[in-house]
Amino acid sequence: MGAVVDLHLHTTVSDGRLTPTELIQLVARQGLKVVSVSDHDNTDGLAEAYQALKEFPDMRLIPGLELSTDIPGDEIHMLGYFVQYDDDELQSVLTRFREGRLERGQAMVEKLAEYGLHIEWERVREIAGDGSVGRPHIALALVEKGYFKEPKDAFAEYLGRNGLAYAHREKMTPEEGVAMLSRIGGVAVLAHPAQLPDLESKVTHLKEAGLVGMEVHYAQYSPGTIARLLDIAKRHGLIPCGGSDYHGLGNTGELLPGTMGPPMETVERLEEASRKLTQSSS
Ligand code: AMP
Ligand code: ZN
Ligand code: FE
Ligand code: FE
Repeated sequence: MGAVVDLHLHTTVSDGRLTPTELIQLVARQGLKVVSVSDHDNTDGLAEAYQALKEFPDMRLIPGLELSTDIPGDEIHMLGYFVQYDDDELQSVLTRFREGRLERGQAMVEKLAEYGLHIEWERVREIAGDGSVGRPHIALALVEKGYFKEPKDAFAEYLGRNGLAYAHREKMTPEEGVAMLSRIGGVAVLAHPAQLPDLESKVTHLKEAGLVGMEVHYAQYSPGTIARLLDIAKRHGLIPCGGSDYHGLGNTGELLPGTMGPPMETVERLEEASRKLTQSSS
């Protein structure tokens, strides 16, 4: 059963492998009605996505992004929807984060070499193009060299948060992320929260900081996990969101856009929340 709403999609301006135009064509073929392009620390794909959308007048695009934020020992991804993405402060923060990704990527390539995995930093840059350089680009370079069969295989031992070749980069805290998004009309939504320890207390705290929703209908989650998250979202007054988190990396079993998503009511609630934020800041 296909969903009609998919609020989590990546393109070549971060670690997705389809251009914004190709992604819009794919989501239209998948029968989606409302989508959000939500690239990591980057909104540069939105202009092209809106251009491509002209071919599909029945489909709606919500401007989005996925901010990487840090807490001690873990990482929290914060989605923002209906962001005023021409905001100067947002763009200067995103530019700084993308610069941090370059240094971090280079450091990871050096660490990999210490473990006998030799890839060229220049090749990683080529694969990434001029978008946000991410670990999946490093994974693709490793696959290309024959070290791993699929990109995801490189994460367990080397590229994951506790992997041997992991390196830190500058990030904001989730509270800072929520505040920055809210200031520019962006509705803050906690991404793929199932694995976070002490989720209930985190959610309570982030709600006070302005969190509006959390991902529930996330394609990689089981029915049991979705039921648990839906219960948490309801009890905390958070809008249940979700989508496929499609990257097109070519991993076995990768789920296509529209595999899962929230109901249409979610879109209306997000829109209403964004309207309130814009009114309260003007
Ligand atoms: P980065 O933006 O460089 O921190 O990379 C984050 C991206 O790496 C995520 O959006 C996923 O696409 C991918 N990723 C992170 N952890 C894993 C994992 N354990 N297995 C496969 N892909 C992962
Ligand atoms: Zn990603
Ligand atoms: Fe994410
Ligand atoms: Fe994502």
